[in-house]
Amino acid sequence: MKLFRTLIPLREAQSIVLSHVRRVGVEEVSFDLAAGRVLAEDIISEMDSPPFNRAAMDGYAVKAEDTFGAAPDKPRVLVLHRHEPGSGSGELNEGEYIPIQTGMPMPKGSNAVLMLEYGRECERDSKLEIFKPVTPGKNVSFKGEDVRSGDIVLNEGRVLRATDIGMLASIGRNCVKVRKKGIIGILSTGDELYDPKGGSKGAIADVNSYVLAALTSVIAKPSRMGIVRDNYEALKAAIESCIADCSCDAILVSGGSSVGSRDFIGDVVEDLGEMLFHGVAIRPGEPTGFGIINDKPIFCLPGYPVSMIAAFEMLVRPFLEAMHGLKGAMIRQVFAVVSKKIPSAVGRTDFVRVRLYHDDHNGDGKFYVEPVRVSGSGIISSVTSSDGFVIVEENKEGIEEGEQIGVNLW
Ligand code: AMP
Ligand code: MG
Repeated sequence: MKLFRTLIPLREAQSIVLSHVRRVGVEEVSFDLAAGRVLAEDIISEMDSPPFNRAAMDGYAVKAEDTFGAAPDKPRVLVLHRHEPGSGSGELNEGEYIPIQTGMPMPKGSNAVLMLEYGRECERDSKLEIFKPVTPGKNVSFKGEDVRSGDIVLNEGRVLRATDIGMLASIGRNCVKVRKKGIIGILSTGDELYDPKGGSKGAIADVNSYVLAALTSVIAKPSRMGIVRDNYEALKAAIESCIADCSCDAILVSGGSSVGSRDFIGDVVEDLGEMLFHGVAIRPGEPTGFGIINDKPIFCLPGYPVSMIAAFEMLVRPFLEAMHGLKGAMIRQVFAVVSKKIPSAVGRTDFVRVRLYHDDHNGDGKFYVEPVRVSGSGIISSVTSSDGFVIVEENKEGIEEGEQIGVNLW
């Protein structure tokens, strides 16, 4: 049995991984297909939005000054504006009003909208009684008040949200440049594994390749390549064919990454290329390696699903984010008060699954956080029953009760 001679600190492993990132290219897509993609350009509006002053309420377009002094017992009276045929939409004169609906352009000469309920129209003589004054600009949405021509409305490196698609629609952007999705080859290794979708025999369901495919699909394009048995030649052949397949931008292999007698991925990477590190001071996830074969990055991830997820979050996710030019992080954080000590040892970075809750008794509205008790690396329910995870830095001996920490949400 070989042993990891040295475990490198997480920071060092991350910087090695990040120094081998090759940014994916750019493609143009229709704006309505861009949600979830990483924006590859700053979006500059070429128009004002709204493009004209428009009514923000149903009611009557008026000159605000004509409504001053109006009260329920002392209504002011306006007359319907009639525009001459051929004179365009006309211009409101003193003492006139025009009925208007939300979103319609404000007629020339008007400067406010009186809400429907504050006026009473007498259709017979085309008069409007007003019971309440409006100030100039009331219920008007002004040209350019949302976006001005020349404004940067969305920045490069942002993952486009559903509402961003609305912004693109509102400023008339039909096509946007986004990062292409990198293709990520995914392999599972282990004699004991079977594919839960059928077609192979074994005692343990291949969980990892499905989890990895789902995790990577959020930003990249996963390509599951099946299960390889614990056999040096078979694994070497599988990796070689993965490397030869030029469409792959990076490879994720799980299982067989330790240094036991049936763990071959380390040797395969060394023989085909170069292993840049093998063994990281993280828990779980220690037997994680990273290498380069023919310029292609290959991650050797642990077999235990929870360890694999930990290694993914700490090393693969930053790699994928950088590869896709993401600025900021995809994972969201909330701050929470530790309600039960989160234990850890100095000398390694801990990845702790945690549960978040509100304390209904004291009702202070704060988030509280406690570690999920089951902690075995094969216990996938320790992840599904958690709300997120906390990273305890290498130099910390746990996080004490009462401390405030950032919790990464799944
Ligand atoms: P290994 O790192 O190959 O020694 O695997 C460690 C443990 O993780 C073993 O109990 C394996 O059965 C399990 N394991 C390995 N690969 C997978 C996988 N793809 N899905 C689920 N469990 C796995
Ligand atoms: Mg194995």
